[in-house]
Amino acid sequence: MKAAVLHAPYDLTIDDVPRPAVPPGHVLVRVKATAICGTDLAIYKGKIETRLPITQGHESTGVVAELGTGAQGLEVGDRVVLNSVVFCRHCPTCFSGRVNLCPNGGLMGREMDGTFAEYVAVPDFNAIKIPESITFEDGTSLIALATVFQSHAKVNITPGQSVAVIGQGAAGLLQTRLSVLSGADPVFAVARSPWKLEIAERFGATPVIASGSDPVRTVADATDGGGVDVVIECVGGGQTLRQAMEMARPGGTVVCFGILPGELPAFDGYAMYFKELTLVGSRGMTPNDFHSAIRVVEGGRLDLAPFVTHRFSLEQTKEALDLVDSATGDTLRVVVTIEE
Ligand SMILES: [Zn+2]
Ligand SMILES: [Zn+2]
Repeated sequence: MKAAVLHAPYDLTIDDVPRPAVPPGHVLVRVKATAICGTDLAIYKGKIETRLPITQGHESTGVVAELGTGAQGLEVGDRVVLNSVVFCRHCPTCFSGRVNLCPNGGLMGREMDGTFAEYVAVPDFNAIKIPESITFEDGTSLIALATVFQSHAKVNITPGQSVAVIGQGAAGLLQTRLSVLSGADPVFAVARSPWKLEIAERFGATPVIASGSDPVRTVADATDGGGVDVVIECVGGGQTLRQAMEMARPGGTVVCFGILPGELPAFDGYAMYFKELTLVGSRGMTPNDFHSAIRVVEGGRLDLAPFVTHRFSLEQTKEALDLVDSATGDTLRVVVTIEE
């Protein structure tokens, strides 16, 4: 089968590789669509180290093509979204329910071969059925939405709370919409790009332009100087984390949703003490987050249609990664689709 294999940073080629074996309890999935996320880009650029060569890709939908011995709950032909977080189900962390943190697991396309390939074999519980109403392309956004649900489970946003979401890329927009659905009011959507803010406004948020103005001041003015209850940082940068801490009210919560770098020169430790801020980390998702994500989309409360902005074939995977790398600001979800 064909697969997009990374041999060294930026050195990605379409190779002929053996179709994966299907171990007991696993299913073989014919991959239909894979979206590119920041983690893929970091691996592609060598910023996250992995074993090489590796088949990249991990935000995917597809069709069950073959059942391994003892695989349960699925049939050949089922349309599925893949939970790319692999976990062991036997360690203390898994028994605590936090399977996203399993030390024996990993991420497809990082610790194990991924989904920029015609086929992938996954444990049966990592393939979750999706309804006909969700297309394969749109379905790739369920993975991002599942991570958003995971972070919301940690902060429990309730009606009447105020929220600010910094960064309105695909994940930021999903954060914005889920905050609105959770009853938060107002929800401030902060971004530089007017067209992304337009989508956020359609999702029920108050847009706050971050270029040429001071978004912290705008949010402060709109909340009588008090700040918001919850700030969700979706950029993964030191400066935006600092803004998030400034936007939070005394006693507020900052969710570090964007993947932050190891060094944070702009971190305001004093604000954390003085305002008694709670900083919350969130990584990946657990299987129940997929079921929540599917229910919300299937029920028509979250429209995934605006998200996929660019489409590429498997042969064009490098082009797709280079587009995301160029960070032109006109992309949301860039998807690699595999035709029959
Ligand atoms: Zn991802
Ligand atoms: Zn485990």
